[in-house]
Amino acid sequence: MTGSEGENLKRILEISLKMLEKYPLCDNCLGRQFALLGFGVDNCDRGRAIKLLLALSAHEMVLSKDKREREEGMAILKMLATNGSLKMAQDLLRRMKRRFGEEKECFLCGGCFKNLQEITDKVIKSLEEYEFNDFLVGIKLPLEVEEREDEFKAEFSVQYSESIRNELSRLIGREVTRKLGKNANYMKPQIVVLVNPFSGDISLQVNSLFIAGRYRKLIRGIPQSKWICIKCRGKGCERCGWTGKMYPESVEELIAKPILEATLGEGTSFHAAGREDRDARMLGRGRPFIIEVKKPKKRNIDLKSLEKSINEYAKGKVEVLNLRLADKEDVRKLKGMEGAQKVYRVIVRFDREVTDDELARLERELSGAIIYQRTPMRVLHRRSDKLREKHIYEVKVKRLSKDSIEMRIKCQGGLYVKELITGDNGRTEPSVSKIIGAKAEPVDLDVLDVFTRR
Ligand SMILES: [Zn+2]
Ligand SMILES: [Zn+2]
Repeated sequence: MTGSEGENLKRILEISLKMLEKYPLCDNCLGRQFALLGFGVDNCDRGRAIKLLLALSAHEMVLSKDKREREEGMAILKMLATNGSLKMAQDLLRRMKRRFGEEKECFLCGGCFKNLQEITDKVIKSLEEYEFNDFLVGIKLPLEVEEREDEFKAEFSVQYSESIRNELSRLIGREVTRKLGKNANYMKPQIVVLVNPFSGDISLQVNSLFIAGRYRKLIRGIPQSKWICIKCRGKGCERCGWTGKMYPESVEELIAKPILEATLGEGTSFHAAGREDRDARMLGRGRPFIIEVKKPKKRNIDLKSLEKSINEYAKGKVEVLNLRLADKEDVRKLKGMEGAQKVYRVIVRFDREVTDDELARLERELSGAIIYQRTPMRVLHRRSDKLREKHIYEVKVKRLSKDSIEMRIKCQGGLYVKELITGDNGRTEPSVSKIIGAKAEPVDLDVLDVFTRR
């Protein structure tokens, strides 16, 4: 042994002895002060190894011829039996017919490492009804516990320790992994278990499950999202027929119900790339959406069969396709997609006959046009009044009768198409009414495509 190795060993033992003389410490709490020394060993083994070494050396002192050394050794053994709760020291003292005091509760953890198995069992039980693949254990500590440890570390100039929070979270997490075969995930855990090992309180933060897809709305007259009754605000009144809703069904509800049934979640929120009017259909490849399931009990969902049950449940009204799992980040992207290009088909009726020349001019003037649009009168009560500039990329016009046409409009997202037709009393410029010089009304409106590339 070189001089410096001997010095280091002596120092570890000396500091530990000082700690134990002053404070009762369990194996974990003593070992944790040296947690960064060594590898692949638990703090409780570190702590126990140090206590054993101290006991061996104290025993040797007890066997000495020198009376003072004998007394000193005996004092250390008694201290290890009480403050260190070391069974070996207790047994040794009993064999020597020496009396010693009661074991003392650990100064740093108050004995919570002793009860860890019980707490861990409780954690595992609390997770029982949830399906998950990864998790994280978060530790809630009483403030005084952390402060006590900080002061303790300062008092003994501890350099190689781990925090009590870290050790608790690590040990509980490891046990959950061992028992349930699930992995800890520090970045995006599906479930966070919050444990207070001092009070025994356990709470779960079950993170949402996100399912993305596209929906097609095959009929007119249902809104995209659940629309709370404006009179009773959802409580139920005469106006809403005691449903609390303005409309009995919505795209959101038609999709959400089978999803809630499959995931056993506590609720959903619906996110989509823009929205169509209640009286417009959403056709083509459908509109991208993400449904967020709150506190799901089931996550490992067969999306193909979920798709089938939604399409069964919403038959003839709404259809979903391309279901896949998504995450929070995808919701953010989806929201940013409101300005994505759209293709609309609208049936327009004029209050007089229109000529082929007029229709050719309409197509020419709107293709490539910039539309200046103030917030439409019909939504002014819920949106602020502002001026938007929206591009129209292409317009195709087809005559249906003397006074009606079909228009296909490829435009920037956010363009109010009904107002593009009527002109909204001059709030939208140019407009179909203005270009033709006749009153134009949108009869039917469908969304044919939503482009997700930006
Ligand atoms: Zn302790
Ligand atoms: Zn109501």
